[in-house]
Amino acid sequence: MPVIILKHYRIVNRNGIFYVISKKPHRCPCCQGPLKVRDSRPRQLILSDETMTFQLRRLKCQNCGALHLEIPDLILPHKHYSREVIENALHGNLLSCPAENSTIYRWSKELKDLEAETWDEQEMPPQKEE
Ligand SMILES: [Zn+2]
Repeated sequence: MPVIILKHYRIVNRNGIFYVISKKPHRCPCCQGPLKVRDSRPRQLILSDETMTFQLRRLKCQNCGALHLEIPDLILPHKHYSREVIENALHGNLLSCPAENSTIYRWSKELKDLEAETWDEQEMPPQKEE
């Protein structure tokens, strides 16, 4: 699933869950069609001394039907700290990880999904310079 990286947003805390409010309406990155909120799902961000739970929206394109996950730029994998924590957990360093096994399993899956998504959206293979 492609992601939409939000750069202009604010974060609202409701009962300990953080919601990302986009300041701009989006267009589908595939076809520029209008997007409609389909549902949302939680994603945890582990900081060095606390855990934040974000509720991220999934937007469906009304034109081509593509589904996009909306992510604020602060939780991009290469910027946020949780990746390190998650990777430690996945590599068996469980003593330092506060999460339960089911959570780690979910992280493992989400991390793979996230890597697939962000590769599509964010990263280009390095260009060889002649
Ligand atoms: Zn579209």
